[in-house]
Amino acid sequence: MLLPGYMAAMTKMFRIALPDGSVREMPEGSTPADVAAAIGPGLAKAALAARIDGEVRDITRPFEGDSNLALITSRDEKDALELVRHDFAHVLAEAVQNLFPGTQITFGPATDDGFYYDFAPAAGRGPFTDEDLPAIEEEMRRVIAADKPLVREVWDRERVRQFFIDHGETFKAEWVMELPEGEPITMYKTGHGPADWIDLCRGPHLASTGKLDPNAFKLTRVSGAYWRGDPKNPMLSRIYGTAWLNKKELDAYLVRLEEAAKRDHRKIGQEMDLFHLQAEAHGSVFWHPNGYIIWRELEAYMRRRLDASGYLEVKTPQLMDARQWEKSGHWGKYRENMFIVPDEIPHASDDESEDDRPILSGDADLMALKPMNCPAHVLIFNQGIKSYRDLPLRLAEFGCCHRNEPHGALHGILRVRQFTQDDAHIFVTEDQLVDEVVEFCDLLDSVYRDLGFDSYAIKLALRPDKRFGSDEEWDRAEQVLRDAVVKAGRATEEFGWEELPGEGAFYAPKLEFHLTDAIGRTWQVGTVQADTVLPERLDANYIGEDGQKHRPVMLHRAIIGTFERFIGIMIEHYAGKFPLWLAPVQAVVATIVSDADEYAADVAAKLAKAGIRVETDLRNEKINYKVREHSLKKVPLLLVVGKREAEEGTVALRRLGSEERQLVMSLDEAVAMITAEAVPPDLRR
Ligand SMILES: [Zn+2]
Ligand SMILES: [Zn+2]
Repeated sequence: MLLPGYMAAMTKMFRIALPDGSVREMPEGSTPADVAAAIGPGLAKAALAARIDGEVRDITRPFEGDSNLALITSRDEKDALELVRHDFAHVLAEAVQNLFPGTQITFGPATDDGFYYDFAPAAGRGPFTDEDLPAIEEEMRRVIAADKPLVREVWDRERVRQFFIDHGETFKAEWVMELPEGEPITMYKTGHGPADWIDLCRGPHLASTGKLDPNAFKLTRVSGAYWRGDPKNPMLSRIYGTAWLNKKELDAYLVRLEEAAKRDHRKIGQEMDLFHLQAEAHGSVFWHPNGYIIWRELEAYMRRRLDASGYLEVKTPQLMDARQWEKSGHWGKYRENMFIVPDEIPHASDDESEDDRPILSGDADLMALKPMNCPAHVLIFNQGIKSYRDLPLRLAEFGCCHRNEPHGALHGILRVRQFTQDDAHIFVTEDQLVDEVVEFCDLLDSVYRDLGFDSYAIKLALRPDKRFGSDEEWDRAEQVLRDAVVKAGRATEEFGWEELPGEGAFYAPKLEFHLTDAIGRTWQVGTVQADTVLPERLDANYIGEDGQKHRPVMLHRAIIGTFERFIGIMIEHYAGKFPLWLAPVQAVVATIVSDADEYAADVAAKLAKAGIRVETDLRNEKINYKVREHSLKKVPLLLVVGKREAEEGTVALRRLGSEERQLVMSLDEAVAMITAEAVPPDLRR
């Protein structure tokens, strides 16, 4: 007989280190949930999952050895949301199979605002529709209310395959055979019984369906999606949902969606007559006069800021030979996104019969429209001998680039195929790197504030798995960017400072700058990357103080990203109500009676002479009608004139969206006030 003491001595104990530095001894077989319970009932209830040595795991999955443990609660919003959304996807799939027997399951990941699941509807049933959603939501609530445990089981591949074949799940059975043989596969069961719902899944999951808030999700829409994204495969039915940690978050999100729809740049762009898009030029914008005024003002502003910051502006070719793109590495890494153009030699014959000749012979050399400006800037750098005294050399270009993207990925002017970047490349010595990045951070900060964005986050995207360059080079490049943000005083919570493993470009780590707009959405626009690869590939060098050749480092940087997308973001941020200096039409002089027509023309002439973009509205319409129409077009200032104003030399000024009554002032006063207000922010300092 074994004595109890002996038993205890035989039990293996694991050392579990907690974030506060304390260590708990836990017997083999215990789980993070046990640790949470040992700390207190509050934490036991709040804990959703566990981070073990950095990896998110089920809270009920036993420790496998000494571990670092951080318990995840709803306060760890990012992790918690991802877990919850993935759970909702499982609950959705279970609910659909409960309601619609014969439906096959495929994949169902978490998304940025919720989740989706792709189903193959039962034979003869046809795709799901929006009408199915309320019933599915109700069934999901029932699954949640049943508070069923989500149980992780490890199976071998053959067992998984057989299981899915037995259950008529041909998609899953196909997929599992592509997982590496011999590796254990995890299956997640909702419930403990043999007939409970089960899915092949890497996990992790919450402990039970009851951890989900049944009022924190909403199924939003249904669309078609090909099995594994391939049009040759069967079409599946994809059900989308949005999911949050609680109802309050869901409601706030739905309000934000509604607000976003009101601000949609495509809708406002039409109301303000800014631009249009059409199928004959997929992903390229037709800028109308009003829209192009915003562009020109923004470009002029950026140019002044760059000029004042020591940049030199250049212009480089749209088309370059394929061999050049091979050298830069784009042909290998980026070709599928490039527009290729054959360099045909035009035939200059007058002989009319020659018209029948094919225009394209098929054996011409290839050229490509530039997808980025970087190689061209190195080619400029490489002209003539550069000395360390020439550095830093800042070459800027409002570079028009083309990138081929699938039509489905395009979105208004936010995602296009022809775009103009506020691009620049700064060639520096290693010693100048940190200071140059600090200077860039300062410039960018000031630009964002001038353009009306007071809040933005800075992220450092670290080395991806597939990359050029040695680990030492990456260590150094990442450290430079980190040091610069610290030196700029912005590696703080206020600036949302965060490092993102694996998200850097293949040739360099990058700092990303994410703007927060008026309704709390974030947009990545700015970036800076420290690159040693391209200068190497294109053999850029300078003569150092030692008289020897050295490689410069190349900083790729952009502040607003592209004009198209940034103007789209501004339209939505301002809901079309641009600050005066950017507004396409800054003022309209509107008459109340036709007696004031002549005076209205004088007022407009005076404003125009002062450089204000002004129009008159002399139509024989009620003033309220005119006010409504110009506010729909988001004209910031309306100067109303009638007989009295004409006699007294005054105007009655109304501001767009202002509750205040109109302000009566003398014409001279009004002109002085408006011209002062229309000065771009950088020219006021
Ligand atoms: Zn799953
Ligand atoms: Zn670049």
